[in-house]
Amino acid sequence: MIYLDNAATTIVDAEVNDVMITVMQHFYGNPSSSHSFGVEAKTLIEESASTIAKLCKCHQNEIIFTSGGTEAINLLFYNVAHVLKSKYVITSPLEHPAVLESIKQYGLAEKTHFVKLTKDVLPDMNHLEELLHEMPGAFVSLMHVHNESGSLLDIQMVGELCKQYEAVFFSDTVQSMGKSPIDFQAMNLDFAVCSAHKLHGPKGVGFLIKNRAIDFKPQLVGGGQSSGMRAGTENTAGIAGVCKALEIAHQTMSNTHEKLKQFKQYLAHEITTNIPTVQCVGDLQISIPQILTLALPFNDKTQSIHRELDALEFVVSAGSACHSLSDEKSMLNHVCIDNHIPLRISMSKFTTQKEIELFLGALLGLLKE
Ligand code: PLP
Repeated sequence: MIYLDNAATTIVDAEVNDVMITVMQHFYGNPSSSHSFGVEAKTLIEESASTIAKLCKCHQNEIIFTSGGTEAINLLFYNVAHVLKSKYVITSPLEHPAVLESIKQYGLAEKTHFVKLTKDVLPDMNHLEELLHEMPGAFVSLMHVHNESGSLLDIQMVGELCKQYEAVFFSDTVQSMGKSPIDFQAMNLDFAVCSAHKLHGPKGVGFLIKNRAIDFKPQLVGGGQSSGMRAGTENTAGIAGVCKALEIAHQTMSNTHEKLKQFKQYLAHEITTNIPTVQCVGDLQISIPQILTLALPFNDKTQSIHRELDALEFVVSAGSACHSLSDEKSMLNHVCIDNHIPLRISMSKFTTQKEIELFLGALLGLLKE
């Protein structure tokens, strides 16, 4: 099988696996226990937070470990509703369901305003500025890398705008952590998020980065863990795993970027030249190289193309795993590409030239049939 659905999830890196097994076997003390086993486990968690803080340019005590992106985002929106008590929320209609459903769940729907999107699946900066001007002090939630298209937000520019209008800024960085550098302080971020399974770490662990100047209360109660921000015995092995995965991602980031940029350009060029009715979604220059999303003209053949590719042993996605569960307006409708269906090809550092060649041959074969 050739796996090209890395935006949905990734294989665990062997080194991450080894670290986690060691932690499970040798650091199994309860981090809240005061004996030596407990202290060892707690130290490991603190060291992991310190390493992550250096990589993301934030403070160690700004990291709250969670069970992944969805929990981190829920914790954040729970606080937007109950502690920050934001008067306005500004977001985009194409945020991940963890954001859009949290807005509904925590009673923020009536305060929420949606920024217009450009054809490149990015917020319209002029409209964003208008909204910020009308709604000072708003809570802004705009994802860094769009999970369905790979479009890359100019987070620095949004951070500066938010600072200018005294807005609180959260960027859903689940798809960008370990792929595009995050400088929490320089980007004027107040909140960011990571999910280990998107970067060759384990499933069910991640973290929220929270500006330490902002008050917060836990959603999970029943213990003082994570400095009182999230009760429950910590997932020590998972925390060591996310830390290792992020460290490796930073070491390999620029080589992976260069390699996948070439694969993406090659695929995009070959496919659109051979089948001119296929479009690439977004601007290839303003997106991460890991994700290439194609818009295929809708017909009987393309409707089931991802299943046909699966049968030929190529795993790709017909869109995001999460959006496929909801019947809201699709990403392509939002960017005015009607009567097309998306095909998301998402690569990782393990993707090879040979795999790309084989995939291209199979896709062109099916589309030309
Ligand atoms: N945000 C984005 C942009 C995502 O792509 C995902 C996962 O698909 C999430 C949030 C949710 O993360 P998790 O799978 O860790 O709950």
